[in-house]
Amino acid sequence: MDKNTSETPPYLAGVIGHPISHSKSPKLHNYWLSKYKINGFYIPFSVTTDKLQDSIKSLISLGFNGVNVTIPHKTNVLSFADSVTDRAALIGAANTLYFSRSGKVHADNTDGYGFIQNIIDEIPDYDFYDKTAIIYGAGGSARAIASALISNGVREVGITNRTRSKAQIISENLGAKISVIDWRTAPETIQRADLIINATSMGMTGQPDFSQPISRAKKTAVVIDIVYNPLITELLKEARKLKLKTVGGIGMLINQAVPGFEHWFQKSPVIDDEIRKFIIE
Ligand code: NAP
Repeated sequence: MDKNTSETPPYLAGVIGHPISHSKSPKLHNYWLSKYKINGFYIPFSVTTDKLQDSIKSLISLGFNGVNVTIPHKTNVLSFADSVTDRAALIGAANTLYFSRSGKVHADNTDGYGFIQNIIDEIPDYDFYDKTAIIYGAGGSARAIASALISNGVREVGITNRTRSKAQIISENLGAKISVIDWRTAPETIQRADLIINATSMGMTGQPDFSQPISRAKKTAVVIDIVYNPLITELLKEARKLKLKTVGGIGMLINQAVPGFEHWFQKSPVIDDEIRKFIIE
């Protein structure tokens, strides 16, 4: 039951970043606030790095329950958080902050959770145990995904990236189960992978299409594209032609928001087709 009534102050949360106008989080959270008739507000704040810590202190004193953090603050916030979850520490970045009543800042990273939950939503009986994955890309999301896959029982994650050194750093940071695959030889390596993941920005509207061939993928492989605009990328179309199972990126975006919403607004939101369509309109 929603514990908040019109007699009590509204629940407050938001997102801080710079720039902030691109963020889909306000649209998502405000959709759920309205749907569930919750007395709460989710507000975007444009905050530069020099004002980050002061802004967070101000939000705490105004009674905010927490915030999402986006570019360029995801790493910086860890330096002054009072506690950091294991997964955020491992990834080296946070996207969700919870403020305690005593003014403490607790930092978490829900990107990997969103990635895993999205696959479970699409393929409910999917068992990650002992699987092999290949991730294209070595940016922030690739790092979160690699970490979540290992935590969920995947045996081996190969990371391949146009700039090899970035894949190397993730492999060194996240341990022996993460290996580096050369960008040029990835098309051959793909035949061993149970999970084939695009975590580059290739395929996004305005960006070049995913350039790596997937024709050698095994028949049981699942192809996951975390790009969500367009909803069905050229990579997913190609995978469907090959009769492979596919998972798009919009569910990851929505799922990563769920832990924050639950905590700040005391309600578990349902993910359905309505929210999937609404969020990319
Ligand atoms: P990022 O840190 O900027 O990393 C971008 C990655 O894409 C790098 O590995 C980069 O390779 C690679 N890349 C970019 N253009 C390329 C090209 N033309 N050819 C080959 N590789 C290319 O970005 P991120 O935060 O990890 O996000 C990556 C994409 O994931 C975003 O663009 C977004 O669409 C999507 N995303 C989705 C969700 C979701 O919830 N569904 C969440 C986060 C991100 P180099 O290192 O060689 O530059």
